[in-house]
Amino acid sequence: MNALLESHRSGWPALSVPLGERAQSIRELARNFALTNIAPIADRIDLEGRFPDDLWPRLGDAGLLGITVQPAFGGLGLGYLEHLVAMEEISRVSAAVGLSYLVHSHACANQIQVHGTEEQRRRFLPGLVRGLQIGGLAITEPEAGSDALTLRTRAERTSTGYRLNGRKTWIANAPVAHVMVAYATTEPDAVSSSGITSFILERTFAGYRPTAARETLGMRGCQVGDIVLENCEVEESSRLAGHNDGKRVLVSGLALERLVASGGPLGVLQACIDVAVPHCRNRRQFGQPIGSFQLVQSKLADMLTSLNAARAYAYAVGAATARDHAHRFDSTGLLLFVGDRVFQMAAETVQLFGAGGYEGQSIAGRFLRDAKFFSIGFGTSEIRRMIIGREMMRESGGDIPSSD
Ligand SMILES: Cc1cc2nc3c(=O)[nH]c(=O)nc-3n(C[C@H](O)[C@H](O)[C@H](O)COP(=O)(O)OP(=O)(O)OC[C@H]3O[C@@H](n4cnc5c(N)ncnc54)[C@H](O)[C@@H]3O)c2cc1C
Repeated sequence: MNALLESHRSGWPALSVPLGERAQSIRELARNFALTNIAPIADRIDLEGRFPDDLWPRLGDAGLLGITVQPAFGGLGLGYLEHLVAMEEISRVSAAVGLSYLVHSHACANQIQVHGTEEQRRRFLPGLVRGLQIGGLAITEPEAGSDALTLRTRAERTSTGYRLNGRKTWIANAPVAHVMVAYATTEPDAVSSSGITSFILERTFAGYRPTAARETLGMRGCQVGDIVLENCEVEESSRLAGHNDGKRVLVSGLALERLVASGGPLGVLQACIDVAVPHCRNRRQFGQPIGSFQLVQSKLADMLTSLNAARAYAYAVGAATARDHAHRFDSTGLLLFVGDRVFQMAAETVQLFGAGGYEGQSIAGRFLRDAKFFSIGFGTSEIRRMIIGREMMRESGGDIPSSD
């Protein structure tokens, strides 16, 4: 067994927060799955920039792709806290696999479960849950990044449904996905983004064309590409929720997505500690382990306290969400906090490895490249701060204009 696998396996015991039996058993399931099926190939996934095809059905067989999906459609029928814990353990071993996993199991499958008709659930969920079909979520466009509700992709009414034209960009899983939850403008002149509609698009549709995967700095095993829609005709039955109901679907989905997504940076933070502690014990300079120097110990202390604070925050938001007590900006605040901390701590991990951390394919370098994503994806750190600050002002009675 290589040293990396060993440090992942032994790990560092983080703050133990009692989350209940169900979350604990999902943690064990996801951790054992990740150690057996992902850890031995995590470096290769990063180097080749490719998610292994056979990992999807194996994730499905383990029950990890349908954590929040109802048992009637093959899922486990559990909650978002359990999903967050699974995301954490998968990302601890490979953040890129975690990102592909998240958009498939949450942004696509969970959105279909929550907003789909019975017929749509029956049609799409069993294949997604078993890993026989791959899912994704397409919001971003070349001109609509942070300004995510100003979409240029048009969906015009036809006699049987809609005709879509436009381009989605930077879409995780796009080069390989079979099913894509996508948003388009149905009323370009509507005020306050009320003219957006969501759809379930299928790879086999005429006029649906995914591009090749982009080269990315990090998250390299998660294939990211564009989707070109050229006179893509869809039936009424491909619409997810009501006509012009897309903003509600999108905004409610993003709040939950940020909660489950926070398992990504949590997992990477834990992984930083998993590899940094044995390195500081084993690497000797000036005749002693570098872990005996106080400046080194201070980095380890910052890493551990960041992880513990982030975990406590994440599980508190997860529990509040389960009780329906979460404020709508809680998950945004959580992702803001843990997304910023993981990048700082991954940079400290590179520092602790010295030149070895700066080597092209070093594990610490992978953590740093992957960690940067968490301040860009799911809304950038700036946008998260903007959302929270704006909501605080609104709730205090401030006359704040809507930025929809
Ligand atoms: C690996 C990866 C995977 C992704 N996967 C998906 C996916 O599956 N589906 C999907 O729909 N999208 C996906 N995205 C896209 C992602 O959601 C966007 O990149 C993100 O929302 C930011 O948009 P942008 O890149 O266009 O940046 P821009 O919006 O161009 O922002 C550039 C900079 O300007 C700042 N900025 C913009 N507006 C403001 C403002 N009002 N105030 C202050 N600062 C501002 C931003 O914070 C940022 O620093 C993915 C991106 C990456 C990198």
